[in-house]
Amino acid sequence: MQVIRKGLILAAFWLCKLLGVFDLARRLTRSRLRVLCYHGFALDDEARFRESLFISRERFERRMRYLRNSGFRVLPLDEAHRRLRAGTLPHDAVAITIDDGFHSTHAVAKDILARHRFPATLYLTSYYFQKGTPVFQLAVDYICWKSPRSTVDLSGLGIAGLDGATAIAFGDDVRREVSRIVHAHGSALPDEAARVALSRRLAGRLGVDYDAIAQSRILSLVSPRELQELQASGMRIGLHTHRHRLPESQAEALRELADNRAAVEPVIGRRMTDFCYPSGVWSAGHRPALRRAGVETATTCESGLVDRHRDPYLLPRILDDSRVSMIEFEAELSGFCEVLRSVRARTHRNAVALWHACESLPGCVAPALSI
Ligand SMILES: [Zn+2]
Repeated sequence: MQVIRKGLILAAFWLCKLLGVFDLARRLTRSRLRVLCYHGFALDDEARFRESLFISRERFERRMRYLRNSGFRVLPLDEAHRRLRAGTLPHDAVAITIDDGFHSTHAVAKDILARHRFPATLYLTSYYFQKGTPVFQLAVDYICWKSPRSTVDLSGLGIAGLDGATAIAFGDDVRREVSRIVHAHGSALPDEAARVALSRRLAGRLGVDYDAIAQSRILSLVSPRELQELQASGMRIGLHTHRHRLPESQAEALRELADNRAAVEPVIGRRMTDFCYPSGVWSAGHRPALRRAGVETATTCESGLVDRHRDPYLLPRILDDSRVSMIEFEAELSGFCEVLRSVRARTHRNAVALWHACESLPGCVAPALSI
């Protein structure tokens, strides 16, 4: 049913494009800023593992080519936002943002962006940037997903909840449950070295090579040298908290931002003023902490285009990943989805199936990089 619905939506998008509705929507929304959002770029099979977090090199290259060939103007986010507020933003302006700071930002995205001379903003979370090890929770999920075993023995790992698991059928639900139990156990361990040891022991039981994952760096963040090279290539670096979370407590939120600054700013040699909410989670209570920390813009994971009256601490974006087809990408970039969203918001009626297209787009799903 879901597949049929999705097929109908895509067919409707194609029809609207052919009838010139996309062109009309683009003219109607040309003064608004489009902020694209990416996360990781696949070096191996990450896009199959986590579609919402990784995009293939080919798909990203195709998106950038589309921006170039379709006459969009790609600007740095800070400049674009300043010009939007001043009323001097050129028509069809796009800003590119990349969250988290995966190694693949350097290994894949850097050269593609440079080839097109497109600037971008990278929001770097810094705990794993400093550690240099794979992101623990992501690595555990990947190991459980990757395991070729249909039956596994997880006893003797010292993990409460798995001690009696001597011969368990390792289906999809069990893999997810094992991940959840190992996350909880790992988060209570005293340090990252203990979490690495746990990941390695788990991988051994599941028939997966942990060291190969670590060496490939598919689940690791950029190194300090790579970050400097990204900055030298024209990328702006922004805040994304140290531990990938923004607590409600102002004191704790300020500490997250301060720790993030302390880890990154000495490496890049400049002050960061752009911020992205980790996992897109925000609340009005965050505002005083952001203001005190000197944040000028903050992006969410909510779908939308930015007009000049938009709250600078709540900038919506267009999330792009492996689940998004080219026609859906075009529908968002053209502003067609934005027009549908505003019609829906105004009327509060959902009778027209096409309007549901906005909900089915992946913009509202916030991929989590849990630490
Ligand atoms: Zn993030």
